[in-house]
Amino acid sequence: INTPKPINEPIYDYAPGSPERRALKAALEEMSQLVLDIPLIINGEEIRTGNIGQVVMPHDHRHVMAHYHRAGEKAVRLAIDAALAAQSRWQSMRWEERCAIFLKAAELIAGKYRYKINAGAMLAGGKTAYQAEIDAACELIDFLRFNVSYAEQIYKNQPVSSPGVWNFVQYRPLEGFVFAVTPFNFTAIAGNLPTAPALMGNTVVWKPASSLVYTPYLLMEIFAEAGLPPGVINFVPGAGASVGDICLADPNLAGIHFTGSTAVFQFMWKTVGNNIASYKSYPRIVGETGGKDFIFAHSSADPQQIVTAIVRGAFEYQGQKCSAASRAYIPRTLWLVIEEGLKREIAKIKVGATTDFSNFISAVIDKGAFSSITSYIDFAKENEGGDVIIGGGYDDSLGYFIEPTVILATDPCFETMVEEIFGPVISIYVYEDEDYMETLALCDSTSVYALTGAIFSRDREATSTALTKLEHAAGNFYINDKPTGPVVGQQPFGGGRASGTNDKAGAASNLMRWVSPRTVKETF
Ligand code: GLU
Repeated sequence: INTPKPINEPIYDYAPGSPERRALKAALEEMSQLVLDIPLIINGEEIRTGNIGQVVMPHDHRHVMAHYHRAGEKAVRLAIDAALAAQSRWQSMRWEERCAIFLKAAELIAGKYRYKINAGAMLAGGKTAYQAEIDAACELIDFLRFNVSYAEQIYKNQPVSSPGVWNFVQYRPLEGFVFAVTPFNFTAIAGNLPTAPALMGNTVVWKPASSLVYTPYLLMEIFAEAGLPPGVINFVPGAGASVGDICLADPNLAGIHFTGSTAVFQFMWKTVGNNIASYKSYPRIVGETGGKDFIFAHSSADPQQIVTAIVRGAFEYQGQKCSAASRAYIPRTLWLVIEEGLKREIAKIKVGATTDFSNFISAVIDKGAFSSITSYIDFAKENEGGDVIIGGGYDDSLGYFIEPTVILATDPCFETMVEEIFGPVISIYVYEDEDYMETLALCDSTSVYALTGAIFSRDREATSTALTKLEHAAGNFYINDKPTGPVVGQQPFGGGRASGTNDKAGAASNLMRWVSPRTVKETF
C-alpha cells in the first residue's frame, strides 16, 4: 500500500478556555453576521438562477444565513453536460492524483477550514459544537482519507496469471454520470456521496438537501481549492422533483448515490425502473434510507449503561440521525431503575441555541420536521397504546424546539414504536423477563427498517441469542453501546430491509459500486 495510512481524525473537545473554543466562537460570530448568496456551481462556474430559497437558523428562524439559487431544468441539463464533458480528462488522470486532491481536501478541512465548516453545521444545521465536530470535521475527513486507501485496495486487487497468460482487471469508472443526493443531517455524508464516486473516476451531479445547502456549498469551495477540476462535481441545489426528474430521465445516468428518506428512494428506484430500457447501462443504485433503530435490554444488563445509551442514542442531534435509538425493549425487573434514571438525566438536559455550548440539544431542522415530529407526540398524548411519560413539550416561536420525549408503549405495535419519527422521541416497551425470546422475535418482526440496533446484556448466551434472532434487523449491531456514531474505518455503516442497499459507507464495498471492472486476458 503506497497511499498514506489513514488515521481517524482526533476529536476536539472545545473545552472552556481552550484555544479551539475561542477559534470556533470567533467563526460563529463572524458567520452569523454574513448573509451568503449561494450559487449553483456548474463546470466550476457560479450560476445564479434568481429562483431563491432561504437558509435560516433552526434555533432562530428569523435569522437568514443565506439565499441560495435553485436549479431549473436548463441548469440541470447544463450540469449533466458539464459532468459528461469533464469525464475524459478526469479519467485520464492517474488514480493517485485523484487521491491526492481528496487528501488535500481532508487536510484543508482538518486545518484551515475546520472552524468555518463546524460553525456552518452549528448555525445552519442545528448541531452542537460536539455534534458538528464529529460530523462536519472528523467523519468527513475520515471518509476522504479512508476512501483513498480503499481505492488503492481495489485498484491493486488483481487475479492470478500463469505462464503464457496474463490476466488483469481494469477498474473503469462507470459510463455516464453519477447523481448524488444528500441529506440534511450529516455534512460528512453530504461530502462523501459525491466524492466517493468522483474518487473512482466518475463525474457527478450533486443535489444537496434543500435544508442543508450551506455546508455543502462550503465544501464545493474547499474541493476547488484542493484542485478538483471544473465539471467533476456539479452543485445543483433545487427542488427534489425537478432536479431528480431530469437526472433520472437521462440515458447517461450511470448511478445514484443517495441518503435520505425511504419514500424518496423508493420513488427514485421506481422512476429508474420505468426508464430502464432507455439507459446506456443499468444504473447503480446505492442508498441509505430510514431507520427505526432499537435498544434491546436483557435482564442481565447494567441499567445505568442503558440510561446513558438512551439519552445519547435517542437525543443527540435531536434524534435526527438515521441511526438514532427510537424504540427500546426493557425487561420488567430493570424498568423502575431505568425510568428513574431517565427522569433524572433528562431533567438535566438543556435545550437551546447551538451557540450556547452548555446546551445538549437544539432545534430540529425546519418547520416540516417540527410539524411531523410533534404530530407523533400529539398522537401519543391522544391515543391508547402509548403515553408520554417524559417531555412532550414543544415551541416553535423562536426556533424549532422539541423537548426530549419518552413514550411508554403498552402496545408494542403502537405507531410510535414502529414508524420512523426522526426527532428527539423514543418509545419504550416493557416486557416480562421470561418473554425474552418472544420479545426478540417481536422486535424482529416489527423491524421494517434494519439500520442499527443494540443489545445490552452481561450474559453471553443471551447476547448470542439476540445476535441470531435479530440477524437481519440491523446492518450495524452494537453490544453494550448506543447504536449511533459509527466511525469510518472501524464500523462500516449501512443497513438492509427498508433502510437501504447496505453498501456500507466508509468501506471498499461502497467504492466498488462506482467502478465497472474490465477483465483482460492476454495470451502469449
Ligand atoms: N453517521 C451517523 C451516526 O453518527 C448515521 C448516519 C445517518 O444518519 O445517515 O450515527
